[in-house]
Amino acid sequence: MTKTRDYITAVQEEIHNKDPHQTEFLQAVDEFLSTVEPFLAKHPEYEANNLLSLLTEPERILQFRVPWQDDKGNWRVNRGYRIQFNSALGPYKGGLRFHPSVNLSILKFLAFEQIFKNSLTGLPIGGGKGGSDFDPKGKSDAEIMRFCQSFMTELSKYIGPSLDIPAGDIGVGAREIGYLYGTYKRLKQYDAGVLTGKPLDFWGSKGRTEATGYGVVYFVKHLLADKNENFKDKTVAVSGSGNVAIYAIEKLQELGAKAVTCSDSNGYIYDKEGIDLALLKQVKEVDRDRLTAYAKKRPQAEYHKDESVWDLKAPYDLAFPCATQNEIDKKKAQNIVENGAKVIAEGANMPCLIDATEYFIDQGVSYCPGKAANAGGVAVSALEMSQNSQRLQWEKDDVDKQLNTIMKKIYESTRNAAREYESENNFMLGANIAGFSNVAKAMVEQGL
Ligand code: GLU
Repeated sequence: MTKTRDYITAVQEEIHNKDPHQTEFLQAVDEFLSTVEPFLAKHPEYEANNLLSLLTEPERILQFRVPWQDDKGNWRVNRGYRIQFNSALGPYKGGLRFHPSVNLSILKFLAFEQIFKNSLTGLPIGGGKGGSDFDPKGKSDAEIMRFCQSFMTELSKYIGPSLDIPAGDIGVGAREIGYLYGTYKRLKQYDAGVLTGKPLDFWGSKGRTEATGYGVVYFVKHLLADKNENFKDKTVAVSGSGNVAIYAIEKLQELGAKAVTCSDSNGYIYDKEGIDLALLKQVKEVDRDRLTAYAKKRPQAEYHKDESVWDLKAPYDLAFPCATQNEIDKKKAQNIVENGAKVIAEGANMPCLIDATEYFIDQGVSYCPGKAANAGGVAVSALEMSQNSQRLQWEKDDVDKQLNTIMKKIYESTRNAAREYESENNFMLGANIAGFSNVAKAMVEQGL
C-alpha cells in the first residue's frame, strides 16, 4: 500500500465511524475516495493539509421543524433541512427535494456530489442541498402552498442571494419555487436572486426547465462526436418521468434518437414505437397524473406494474437513468449491457450503485456520472443568478447555446482528467478529479 492509499483509508474509516448509518452519504464518499489516489499522489500539499477530512465534513447543517395545516384543519409536522456543504467556489448552491425518503444521509450525499458538479460547471457556485420528508403526492394545491410557506419561514433565516441559493429537485418545481419565493419576499427582500428555477414571469431563466434533460443529451452528444457517431437512429431506454426524463426525451427525439421507455414509482412504460412526448407532457405536467394514464390513452404501449425499466429485456443502444438514486444494481447493470447499451448517462444523482458503476467501466461501456452529465440544471441556475444580478432576462437560444458550451467543457475536462490519471474510459474518476481539483486549490488558497 502506498502512503497516499493509507491516508485515504484512514480518512474513510474516520467518516464511517462518525456516521455509520448514513449509507447513501457513505456510498457517495466511498465512490469519491476510491478515485482520488492518483491525484493526491501528485499533490502532496493536500494530504499535508488533511484536506479530505475537511472536504467531507459539511460546513453547516440546518435542521428545522415544519408545521403546516392540511385541508381538514389538522396540524401536521415535517422535518426541513439545508446542508451548506462547501463554499470554496462560491455561495452554497443546490436544490430542495420534497420526498418521503428524504433524511440527513440522502441530503448529505446530494450536497457532497453537488460540490463537484458545481465545480465542473466552471461557474462561481459552492455546494449545498436541502429539502424535507414531506410527500407532495396527493396533496392539494393549497396544502402545497401552506407547506412551502412554513418551510420558507424558517429557511429564510439562513439563505440569501450571495449566501445560499436553493432551487428545485424531486418534488420541487416552478409552482413550489413560486410559493417559496413569495414567502421569502414577504419576510426579507424583494431579491429574486435568492432562488433559481423561478417561473419566467418573475425572473426565472428561459431554458431552466429543460436544462438538466437537454444537458445530459448534450454531454452524450459530445461523447458520441468523439467516436464519430451521433444520435441518429439510436434507441434509448430512459427511466423517470419528471423534468429530467421529459426533456431528455425531447432533445433525444430532436436529435434523431428514439426513446422507448419511461417510469414512475409504480411501474414503467415500454413504447416500442417511441414515447409519445405530447401525451407524456399532458399526463405529467398538466394533469399531474401517474403513467397508468399514459398507458390507458396509448394502447400500443406496454405498462409493467411494479417493475423497473432496467429489468426490461429488449435491444437499445443507450441508457439514461433519470429517476432517482440507487435504481441500478449489478444485476440490472448486467441486463443493460446484455440489451446492447454502449453508453450509460446519469440524468439522476447516483442512480447506479458502486458495483454497477464498476461493472460498466470494466465492460468498456461509456459510463457518464451524474455529477458531470446532469450538471446542466445547476449550470443554467447559475446563469439565472447572473441574469438576476443584471436585472435582465436572456433569450432562450442564448441560454441554450451557453448550456451546450458548458456541457462540452464538462465533457472535455472529465475525459481529459480520466486520460491523465487513469484511462480514457474511467469517467467516474475523471469527473471526480476534475471537479475536486478546483475545489482543493481554492480551499488551500483561501487558507483552509
Ligand atoms: N437539483 C438540481 C441538481 O441536482 C439543480 C440544483 C440547482 O439548480 O441549484 O443539480
